[in-house]
Amino acid sequence: MTSTDAFTPPPAIPAAAARGDVSHIDRLTALWKLSAQRGLSDEARIRAMLAMAAEVLDMDLVLLGEFGDQYTARYVFDRLGVFPEGAVLAVENVMCRDVHLSREPMHIPDLRKHGQYAGHPTVTHWGLLNYSGLPITVGNETGWVLAFLRRQARPAVDPVDIAYMELIADWLGNALYQSAQHELLQRMALTDALTGLPNRRAAEERLHTEKARAPRDRCGFALALVDIDHFKSINDRYGHAVGDEVLAATARRFEQGLREGDWVARWGGEEFLFVLHGCTAEDAGNIIERMAGLCRSTPVQTSVGDITLSFSAGVAAFGPDEADTAMLIDAIDQALYRAKSEGRDKVRLVERDNRALNAGQLRQAIASGGIRVAMQIIVDLETGAAVADEALARICLNSGEVVEAGRFVEQAEGLGLMAEIDRQIIHQTMHRCGMRISAGGATDYAHFVNVSPQFLARRDLVDEMFARATNYCATCGIGPVKPMVLELTERQRIVSIERLRADLQPFIDFGFRLALDDFGSGYSSYLYLANLPVSFLKIEGWLIAHMRGDRKVAGIVESLASFARKEGVLTVAEHVEDAETARILADMGVNYAQGWHFGRPILV
Ligand code: GH3
Ligand code: MG
Ligand code: MG
Repeated sequence: MTSTDAFTPPPAIPAAAARGDVSHIDRLTALWKLSAQRGLSDEARIRAMLAMAAEVLDMDLVLLGEFGDQYTARYVFDRLGVFPEGAVLAVENVMCRDVHLSREPMHIPDLRKHGQYAGHPTVTHWGLLNYSGLPITVGNETGWVLAFLRRQARPAVDPVDIAYMELIADWLGNALYQSAQHELLQRMALTDALTGLPNRRAAEERLHTEKARAPRDRCGFALALVDIDHFKSINDRYGHAVGDEVLAATARRFEQGLREGDWVARWGGEEFLFVLHGCTAEDAGNIIERMAGLCRSTPVQTSVGDITLSFSAGVAAFGPDEADTAMLIDAIDQALYRAKSEGRDKVRLVERDNRALNAGQLRQAIASGGIRVAMQIIVDLETGAAVADEALARICLNSGEVVEAGRFVEQAEGLGLMAEIDRQIIHQTMHRCGMRISAGGATDYAHFVNVSPQFLARRDLVDEMFARATNYCATCGIGPVKPMVLELTERQRIVSIERLRADLQPFIDFGFRLALDDFGSGYSSYLYLANLPVSFLKIEGWLIAHMRGDRKVAGIVESLASFARKEGVLTVAEHVEDAETARILADMGVNYAQGWHFGRPILV
């Protein structure tokens, strides 16, 4: 378990020298050569030093550990394979503790004869009998101890060995100090002093890593470049120092608005670069829009009072067309410029062709695990609690780009591939449901999945799905009503409602429920509702988005809600993007809602 990968064999030990039989001059030469060896990182040099010391002093275990609230073995040379590097132990269990507390070296030639340590696991478990511990000072820090242990007890510790250990301890103290200084400098070089965010250089390095990682993780990312509007006038009006305060406060706000793993850097004067993972350009645009809304509604507090600001942004997803991130940054810079020239306080996506995926891309994604679920929560409008989620299909291309359903569903249907996509989404969702429930999750939490008539018509796939569902339900011990809800869209024309009903019957018998998706958008809303045992009715997003500006639309939504209530069907409003819309829907008696206001789709 000891990590000595970066260790180059100590160059200076004469090959002929047997363990423990090295002259003092040879030992000093070895130490000196190692100190002078070029091209070693700080860590590698420290490791090499421990290995060399173990060799020339004939030790089985050398520990360089740090005391804090606990003891951490930071560097370990372990010939016996008993002590993993990085091990964290309670301070009171560590023999080095006494050295740490007294700041005095301690040499015990035979631990078995030591009143306090004879029964210590070091002796009883690992058979280590000979111990030397030396305190190390690293700058002003006194938390480090170097320990040498071996299985062979000695009548006494050789004073020449002690002198050498002290030399090594001094040397390690300096090396650790240098390493800490390096790290500090490096951190400072990559951090913007005013905002504490990564600076441009750090951002460029990170982008490089993101780009390399995207294809591997199959989880792409989006970039947003944000520039504060009329920032110069804040400086002109209140002075540069207040301008600085605004920048620092804005940076904090941006940081707080991020999900784990996403990051924001200070790209330039009053420009910030965001990296958002698992996002399409539209998703990222929505996130930035929300931050813009927050910026507008909540002024920044400064020493001269509250200052309200706005920003403009350019957004794009890193896709297969990008040879490198620099080109994409140029593109978002242009989108940002467009936002500025269109009046500022705007978010603009990079215009790119939104071409549908071709057959090759689709087949490849299906074959290679590129079909992924993005999960969006559905909340109860009365209680605000999340009661369900919808599994939305996404395709992650080899390049890492995440493609939304709008760019592949029609093609997949045309090519007869939709059944396979549905199959994968349903399996992933059932798996997630199974995991959730076996971890103690609520059994009345529902999972909505979209199913196509193509899937329902495939006997083999349906049978396979039931086999899995039966398996999951057997272990979960769930009641007759199952968490899975099948969403049927009425956008597609179906051949016969009787056939559809027959295809659905086994699901209904099994305890799956049905939802009508996009209700109010297509050809056959009422035909479906009249002929199928529907449990949920999802109100088309367009109606929700236009409800506040159009009384007639609001009337339609309200009457849908009251009709559904009479029929014992629960309503779900889609595309709810703000609190006011949520409130109006709740007043109308709509039961559930999903949309940006509650949560965006997240790749799972
Ligand atoms: P626009 O809406 O077009 O973005 O207008 P603007 O005034 O924000 O844009 P412009 O790029 O012309 O000005 C940016 C200003 O930001 C000019 C520069 O002095 C100021 N600035 C850059 N870095 C800092 C900083 O660290 N602190 C302060 N206080 N101001 C800065
Ligand atoms: Mg500006
Ligand atoms: Mg600017």
